[in-house]
Amino acid sequence: MSTINIEDAYKEYSSDEGTIVAVDEVSIEVEDGEFLTIVGPSGSGKSTLLRMIAGLEDITDGTISIDDNVVNDVAPQRRGVAMVFQNYALYPHMSVRKNMSYGLKLTSDLSSEEIRKRVEKTATMMGIEDLLEKKPSNLSGGQQQRVATGRAIVRQPDVFLFDEPLSNLDAKLRLHMRTELQRIQEELETTSVYVTHDQTEAMTMSDRIVILDQGEIQQAGTPEEVYAEPANQFVADFIGSPSMNFFEVGYENGTFVNDAFDYDLSDEIAMRIERAAESDDLTLGIRPEHVDVADGKTANGITTYLDVLEHEGSDNYLYLTKGETEWTVRVPGSVRYEAGESIDLLLPEEHIHVFDGSTGENLLLQEGRRTKPA
Ligand code: ADP
Repeated sequence: MSTINIEDAYKEYSSDEGTIVAVDEVSIEVEDGEFLTIVGPSGSGKSTLLRMIAGLEDITDGTISIDDNVVNDVAPQRRGVAMVFQNYALYPHMSVRKNMSYGLKLTSDLSSEEIRKRVEKTATMMGIEDLLEKKPSNLSGGQQQRVATGRAIVRQPDVFLFDEPLSNLDAKLRLHMRTELQRIQEELETTSVYVTHDQTEAMTMSDRIVILDQGEIQQAGTPEEVYAEPANQFVADFIGSPSMNFFEVGYENGTFVNDAFDYDLSDEIAMRIERAAESDDLTLGIRPEHVDVADGKTANGITTYLDVLEHEGSDNYLYLTKGETEWTVRVPGSVRYEAGESIDLLLPEEHIHVFDGSTGENLLLQEGRRTKPA
């Protein structure tokens, strides 16, 4: 049972070429038993932040506390954390059994018999009980991943830290291990921080997601929140696949204008935009599933042309163009169109997002909610 409190954590790396700020005043409170995912593109500071929690990187400034104890200067093995790495980091010359028991022998005063029992119980939980006498080189990637996770579990840590643990697995196995890790976390209720660049992983596994870019938090919230109410255009673009449609628009008296369409706003939305926007350069966003295909009778549809229809099984994705603008639209799998066909689109106002052209902030979120603290 543990909480993690990260306050204004800051990390810079200095070299002859200059200084890089890898983590920029990040504050996050991880609740007891929570599964929190840190997600962001490569180089956004995810691993550095995780390694700061683990004690594998010094903290330039700020504090990290586990259960109200500041751990900035506490050695990694004394923090009560267990980490699972992307490359598994198993000892190649040791059997699975030894890999799993080694840490316990070093850091606990459990008897050999107690360690044996704990290792075997964990191995059963991970479905690797038949592999205990094998060496890592004789195991598949998925099996090595299980051993690495089992090795973390067997220590019964206060906190699990996962650094892209599924990245080296093929797609099917990744999906399987995703649900397996969720099952284990629900069973053990151990506070977990999970780092990934894969937004699908973040969306499907987490209680809460923190989105990082260039070392700074862009938003923190439940998967539902960051999907439905992205704080800014970066989050809107990063979360969701295929990505949200974005159109640069000008704003003129209650209408969005660009080369491909004019879009009239209701008085209420127009007023909210006028109040919040700092300039007339805005970006209109709408998710592929929220664009409606007009039935032909609608006068104010935006006429586009089908470039490609992609079959995804239960859904189809239409990739459409009008002049320079491109659209992605999700339709049911039963809906078919021919390439080149003209299709009229409608943008229901309740589903549009509007981002400030300079700051990227979501102007339709209520004031104060645009950049949420973690
Ligand atoms: P992510 O995990 O999101 O890919 P990282 O935390 O690995 O990002 O890196 C964040 C930034 O810090 C990057 O610009 C990276 O190049 C830099 N960085 C990471 N580790 C070091 C290091 N040991 N020395 C210098 N720069 C580093």
